[in-house]
Order: sequence, then structure tokens, then C-alpha cells
Amino acid sequence: MRTGIVTDESFLAHDTGERHPERADRLRAIGQVLDSGAAVDRLVVPARAATAAEIARVHAVEHVERVAATARLSRFAFDADTPACARSFEAARRAVGGLLALVDAVMDGRAANGFAFVRPPGHHAERDRAMGFCLFNNVALAAAHLRAVHGLERVLIVDWDVHHGNGTQHAFYRDPSVLFVSSHQYPFYPGTGSAIEVGRGEGEGFTLNLPFPAGYGDAQYVEAFLRIVEPVARQFAPQFILVSAGFDAHRRDPLAGMEVTEQGFASLARLLLRTAREVCGGRLVAVLEGGYDLEALRRSVAAVLGEMSGAHLDQPVSPPPGEKPDLQQPLEIAKHYWRI
Ligand SMILES: [Zn+2]
Repeated sequence: MRTGIVTDESFLAHDTGERHPERADRLRAIGQVLDSGAAVDRLVVPARAATAAEIARVHAVEHVERVAATARLSRFAFDADTPACARSFEAARRAVGGLLALVDAVMDGRAANGFAFVRPPGHHAERDRAMGFCLFNNVALAAAHLRAVHGLERVLIVDWDVHHGNGTQHAFYRDPSVLFVSSHQYPFYPGTGSAIEVGRGEGEGFTLNLPFPAGYGDAQYVEAFLRIVEPVARQFAPQFILVSAGFDAHRRDPLAGMEVTEQGFASLARLLLRTAREVCGGRLVAVLEGGYDLEALRRSVAAVLGEMSGAHLDQPVSPPPGEKPDLQQPLEIAKHYWRI
């Protein structure tokens, strides 16, 4: 299957400073994987700058203007974690636009699926606030684009980054057309993502959080995705699946305390690709979020791209031996809203 790929020189110019974990070397490491022949059948999708109107589908105009204003400064910090340089706005709007172009390529059939390797990441960015290394919420803007431009009625966002995707959750908290499912270390940064956060109003039941204690690895993640994420996703029957693909739940990651390996990420990807094939013609696009160990990034991205090729799609997904995860709370909540 042809996999659409987005990379762009502008993403490397987003300079976060000497010792920041979210650094350009992350994309250089992924570039080595692409150069070594991963995703052989690939469509390179050029990035473009998203327009202010596109970004305003999720963000306050004042926020877009604030980020744009940083282009006039050599250095700026939105908070202690979230720096910007003069070229960060350009990187951020090309990250959004590259992802939208990739989504378009999958919608019109030029690619079967895709992976956008962008910086800055996006899932912590709130409607009116940059935070957690994130300026614009790439994945939320992709879902809004699918709704507004392609007229889709149901979009699933799965966020397996080790941190809770607070910005994405809040963007669709009252919206039943976008189902947001997040697995994350909890309690942990940014503090949100407990099992009882389920959405509000018409959106109640369309936010599903899987808060995991530190130490969970492949056995627990795969089991949780098989027992909860896959059956809920099947029932929701999305017309497109977006994945906030951070790799900071990897056991090598320096920021978090999870034990997932590249084989675990491959299993999660296969499970979601299998669901996509069943319900939406295989349409799935992943976008890079976190992941701060370069070797873990290289291995995990290679493993996920291997799954996107479709070569292993008919092989079963089963958890490796290990302790069962404690899924009592998320299962009770999921069963309240879904027939699983
Ligand atoms: Zn993260």
C-alpha cells in the first residue's frame, strides 16, 4: 500500500535551544529511517503553509496572531517548556498545512495511508494557548479539516503519546462527531486525562481516556487496545482515523516511565490499520507528537511504517506475555456509552 509521507526543511528551523528535548535531531533521526528505505511504496506530499482561516477552525484568532508575532523576535517563550524562534511560526503553520495536504492525499486516493513527520508537535496546544512544546494543534486541525472540507461526519482520533492530549480533548469535548481516545501515563503532565473526563453535552461519551500507571508496556497496551479501543472504534465506525503518534511511551524515553517497545507500537498500529480497513477503506493518517530518545524514534517509526505497508496486516494482534492491565475504570466508562 502506498504511504504518504510529509517532511519539510522548515520543521528543522524551529529552534528550541541547546538542551530542549523537542529538537530538530528528532526529525533528522527519522530522516535516516526514510533514507534507509522504509516505506518503499511512498508518496512524498509537499508541505504547505496552512492559512490563518484554516488554523482558526480550532484556535482563537488572537492565538494565531500571538504565534505569528513571534516571527519578529529572535527568541520567545510561551511558557517554561515552549520556546519559539523567528522561524517557529513558519514551521508551525507548515506542520499544520503539511498534515492537511496529507489528509487530502489519502481522501482522494493518491495514498492509502500516511505519516506526517512534523515539528512542532501539537496535541497540548489549546484553543488560545501554546503549551507543552506545542504551538498549533495539528491533529485537531486535521479533524476539523476533514469535517469542514471533506464533509465527514465521524472522525476518530487515537492519541498514544505518553502524555494526555489535553488540547485535542478540549477542542472536541462537546462534539460527538470527533471521538477522542487517549492512552497516557497518569497522573503525569499535563494533569488532565482521568477516566471520568468523558465529554459534555452532545459530546458526552465521545471522549475516552485510558489513564495508565507508570510501568505499563506492550502486554498492557495491546490488551487495552484490543479490549477497549478496537471495539469502541468499530462501533463508532469513523470515516477517517487520525493517530497522535508520540513515541515517548517507549522504554528508552528519557521523559516518561512506560515500557513500550517498537514491537508494541507496531501492534497498536496494526490494530488501528485493521480497524481502518474494516470501517473506512483503510484511511488512517498518523502525525508525530512526542518521543525524545533518537534510537527509540528510529526503531518505532520504522516499525509503524512497516505496518503501514500492509505487509503484516493479516497477522493477528495479540499481547505478549505479561501482567494484565487494570482496566476496571475505563472499561466501566466505555461500557456505559458503548456496547462492548
Ligand atoms: Zn508526549
